[in-house]
Amino acid sequence: MSDADILIVGAGVSGLTIGWLLANEGVSVEVWEQGDRPGGKIRTGRQSGYLLEESASMVMNYRPEVNTFLDTTGMNRRKFERAPTEHRYLLKDGGLVELPLSIGAMAKSSVWSAGDKLRMMREPFAGRGDRDRETVSEFVTRRFGRGMLEQAIEPFVAGPLASDPDRANAAATLPRLSGLERRYGSIALGMLAHKFLRRRTATETEAFSFEGGMTSLVESLADTSAIRLRTGYKATELAPVNGGWTAIGVSSGTQCTLRVRHIVLCTPAYTAASLLSPLDAELANLLRGIDYAPLSVVHMGFAETAVNHALNGTGFLVPRREKLALTGCMWSSRLFPSHAPDGKVLLTNYLGGGRRPDAITWDDDQSVAEILKILKPLLDIATDPEMVSITRHLHGLPLYYGAYPARMRAVDSRLQDFPGLSLEANYRGGISIRDRIVCAYKTVERILPGLNRSSTELEKTRVPRQNGLISASTSG
Ligand SMILES: Cc1cc2nc3c(=O)[nH]c(=O)nc-3n(C[C@H](O)[C@H](O)[C@H](O)COP(=O)(O)OP(=O)(O)OC[C@H]3O[C@@H](n4cnc5c(N)ncnc54)[C@H](O)[C@@H]3O)c2cc1C
Repeated sequence: MSDADILIVGAGVSGLTIGWLLANEGVSVEVWEQGDRPGGKIRTGRQSGYLLEESASMVMNYRPEVNTFLDTTGMNRRKFERAPTEHRYLLKDGGLVELPLSIGAMAKSSVWSAGDKLRMMREPFAGRGDRDRETVSEFVTRRFGRGMLEQAIEPFVAGPLASDPDRANAAATLPRLSGLERRYGSIALGMLAHKFLRRRTATETEAFSFEGGMTSLVESLADTSAIRLRTGYKATELAPVNGGWTAIGVSSGTQCTLRVRHIVLCTPAYTAASLLSPLDAELANLLRGIDYAPLSVVHMGFAETAVNHALNGTGFLVPRREKLALTGCMWSSRLFPSHAPDGKVLLTNYLGGGRRPDAITWDDDQSVAEILKILKPLLDIATDPEMVSITRHLHGLPLYYGAYPARMRAVDSRLQDFPGLSLEANYRGGISIRDRIVCAYKTVERILPGLNRSSTELEKTRVPRQNGLISASTSG
């Protein structure tokens, strides 16, 4: 006799999305969250009239599953599109250069030398690499040369992914690019084919937040009455019993026990490792081996009159050759004007990550000083910020380092011994919110038959596959 069909441990976007989809299928779902609020990494703060995202600031979507999910949950009505701007920049020799977004613009761009451009044109003739072990740096250099690595891919991998291309596994970190190579033998040719077919099969890429910020998404999922959400509940022990599971947790110093048919662990990998180590030391070791990058998010607010740069774009990324701990600066009030009061400018800066993990130890003064040293001359800023807000993420983002696909295969193989247990969080299948929603659909499809439920509702809300052109796990 079970107390619920499913226990989900962790109320981040992974756990809440899975919980929502299961509850929508009539499954009885309980969610334990150790913190005092749902959302995990996602949290929107407010200060002096600014709206401040502590982690994710937007969803970048091209997957139909995400559109379907937002339609079904009603969150599409609260979508808040990013202001249209195509300009994005790179810090180069102390100035900003625009990153080209088309092949024609690439040919004219000053980002790359003539030699770099000639090398890139040889991409269709590049040989194959070792999918299991090849790093991002090896993969990109093999296909496009060092220019493409240093001026485009490295800043992207170090910025939004907080990773280090010399250690990050190419297949896991850039699944779209490595998928194109696998399928077409060439990324350039694959993109051409993809572009041709995409017109008929896939959704356009769009970037958006929600009214009230990203926290609205997780709060709305958590508000669903069909999910029994218990905040302040920390899972401490799991045990398989009689075709189901018993979970033991602690809430306000009191122990609680729950019997369920299935457990989905949506915690970081290191927490899953601690919970599973009494059951399977090898599985725990595989999970413990997943590193996380520390990173700081530093919001700065200025009077509009103090910032003399036009800020005509999304912001800029910083390549490693600039030797800075700043990996990127997002021009947040340009993208989402309502995130700053009238007459103010909001700049969101990212410090550290896999490139400079030590930056997490900097105090507020040092963090702000290091950023202003770069921003003031670059954006012609006349004053110090009138608002500063810093969030430090000690375990910011999981790093898909080393032989990552092999590690995940080994995790899946160990899980065969534990029917009724799933592991789903951002260390598997992509870090972005888009990836988390796509993975949630797959998890629910896998779990439902074991609960003797057919996925009729899921069928209704499912979307046509994209002819297999985009691989399932996408963080690129
Ligand atoms: C600075 C930053 C910027 C980002 N920007 C973007 C962006 O713009 N767009 C985008 O798509 N993505 C972005 N991301 C990535 C995205 O926000 C995360 O990958 C995603 O929110 C992670 O969700 P999750 O549910 O997998 O994990 P988490 O959010 O980490 O949730 C895990 C939950 O498990 C709980 N938990 C842990 N242990 C226990 C336990 N024993 N018992 C009960 N509960 C437990 C935790 O308290 C937590 O709530 C960003 C991330 C960061 C850090």
